[in-house]
Amino acid sequence: MSALPVIPVEEDDRATPILSIPIPDAARPSLALWVENLSVSFDGFKALTDVTLTLEKGELRCLIGPNGAGKTTLMDCITGKTRPDSGAVFLESRLYDLTKLSEVRIAQLGIGRKFQRPTVFQGHSVYENCELALAGKKGVFRTLFARLSPAERTRIDEILELIGLKDQAKRQAGLLAHGQKQWLEIGMLLAQSPTVLLVDEPIAGMTHAETEKTAELLTSLAGKHTVVVVEHDMEFVRSIARKVTVLHQGKVLAEGPMSQVQKDPRVVEVYLGE
Ligand code: ADP
Ligand code: MG
Repeated sequence: MSALPVIPVEEDDRATPILSIPIPDAARPSLALWVENLSVSFDGFKALTDVTLTLEKGELRCLIGPNGAGKTTLMDCITGKTRPDSGAVFLESRLYDLTKLSEVRIAQLGIGRKFQRPTVFQGHSVYENCELALAGKKGVFRTLFARLSPAERTRIDEILELIGLKDQAKRQAGLLAHGQKQWLEIGMLLAQSPTVLLVDEPIAGMTHAETEKTAELLTSLAGKHTVVVVEHDMEFVRSIARKVTVLHQGKVLAEGPMSQVQKDPRVVEVYLGE
């Protein structure tokens, strides 16, 4: 893919059209997210070098690679937590300069992120947590726990069903099992209707049964959302993966169907070398 000119935007100027160049080839209607030319270094250490990632709508992509490969850094850059040295992201038919976008703006553009450690509101009920997430989406001051519209109630019910916590709705989130907290957090992300969902190491610390349920949940989200799962556990990846991207030393080493990638000698080598 050729490098495209990127027009910088003022960070908080939402009204500025980002780019008005002819739509690149990659901007097919089926394209959900396209990250181009992403590089970042920390004190001279190149954590990511020229990473390009193309995701189709509804895709479930696994991002794998040995420890230190740059997986979390890639998510940090895509979500604006870390400013890359260079990089552009094509979302919703526009090209944005990733070095200029704020974290808030990126979230508004439809990229949701689930961190490794669940960050639910422990003292509130499962239902209230979903409510808070919906309120956050509106981005307006609104009394917490003001009346929900029927549509909002329906949405929360759907989400609770999807994440398997319907019968736990009234339970205090802090009392949930580890796996349930993770699912609740995925539910809270869903309440914000992201186009792209980034999930970092979802099964860390989970029991076998929780892991299986998480695999089902993530698989069921694909189709409606574009899901990127970073995971270290290859068995889990095999259970959900269609297409995988392998990162190694901050670069894309291989990409393709799991069946093909796991036979790639370069991939085998980096995993054996761990
Ligand atoms: P992964 O998630 O694939 O295990 P990371 O993205 O966490 O890898 O890290 C990639 C590399 O970048 C590692 O060598 C890590 O030490 C380094 N790194 C990540 N974040 C920082 C930072 N904020 N400052 C310095 N080095 C960092
Ligand atoms: Mg990581």
